[in-house]
Amino acid sequence: MTIKYKRILLKLSGESLMGAQGFGIEASMLKQYAQQIKSIIDLGVEVAVVIGGGNIFRGLQAEKSGIERVQGDYMGMLATIINGMALQSGLEEAGMYTRLISAIEMKEIAEPYIRRRAIRHLEKGRVVIFSGGIGSPYFTTDSAAALRANEINAEVILKGTRVDGIYNKDPLKHQDAKKYDKISFEEVIKMNLNVMDMTAFTLCQENNLPIVVFDVNDKDNLKKIVLGEKIGTLVENY
Ligand code: UDP
Repeated sequence: MTIKYKRILLKLSGESLMGAQGFGIEASMLKQYAQQIKSIIDLGVEVAVVIGGGNIFRGLQAEKSGIERVQGDYMGMLATIINGMALQSGLEEAGMYTRLISAIEMKEIAEPYIRRRAIRHLEKGRVVIFSGGIGSPYFTTDSAAALRANEINAEVILKGTRVDGIYNKDPLKHQDAKKYDKISFEEVIKMNLNVMDMTAFTLCQENNLPIVVFDVNDKDNLKKIVLGEKIGTLVENY
């Protein structure tokens, strides 16, 4: 059994935590992700997670309620910390060692982000959860995933979604939509395919950091990817 990726960054959206209930955090989802992460921790893979906040709050939606954008973005960042705390509990419940790191100082509940310290946690087999995005408004947690993955020298970003990869058109609307097993950064931009926001995407492109977009609700996928199976869509420079 060969391990393809020794250090990964898993991006989980806030929405992935809400399950069928449509908002908030569903216990069964936490359990499911914890088991998937455990299956690769047990292989000796180093795992960092960037968690989103869209199940609770998004900055852009706030504008509709008369909350200014920047204020809304900070509210969104706080939402990711709530999700991070929930995920931390879920992982601990499943028997893993974890550290929750926040880009916004909140020292009673999370460590501040110190790059070398985060890397040390990974080396010791702890799951590192990055919350608070990058700590600045006008960004998303996809940008945080791209930034942190580069900083900690992750070999790949595994972007968990509810579809099983990247298609040339929306597979929910078009029956003849074609899925890519692999695609270059350049093509994604040329074809205007939606993988991550552009800031996140170009950061990965410029630094040669591959992204795998995959269905995170298939419980064996994470392990399969780490073991080199072709799951989802691989985006890289070629
Ligand atoms: N956000 C931000 N800066 C960051 C990360 C997040 O301002 O570095 C805010 C932004 O308002 C965003 C919200 O937090 O809408 C929740 O994050 P995101 O939408 O990325 O979560 P996801 O879609 O992954 O659930």
